[in-house]
Amino acid sequence: MEASQDPIKARLPYSLDDQGLLYFHPLNAEPSLCLPKAMTKDIFALVHDEQGHQGFQAAWHKLRGITFYKGAKLLRDYITHCPVCRDNAVPRHKP
Ligand SMILES: [Zn+2]
Repeated sequence: MEASQDPIKARLPYSLDDQGLLYFHPLNAEPSLCLPKAMTKDIFALVHDEQGHQGFQAAWHKLRGITFYKGAKLLRDYITHCPVCRDNAVPRHKP
């Protein structure tokens, strides 16, 4: 990361790469790509719908490396309101 002369910018845990992608740098963790809220439905469909409608933890685990603003709440809401999960009550535990 390049050094910045802007004292506020230097303290924010974000960086832009050379393609203009925004990364969040959490303490003690790998940087994660910040995605716009408009993409949440598509991404959640990939990690939930297309993975057999697993629960929150499984879907959340697949989102490592990606950051959405309020992503955990948005994902919980998405799964809570998933019509397939609600109608079929897909079992999430091994028998
Ligand atoms: Zn579902």
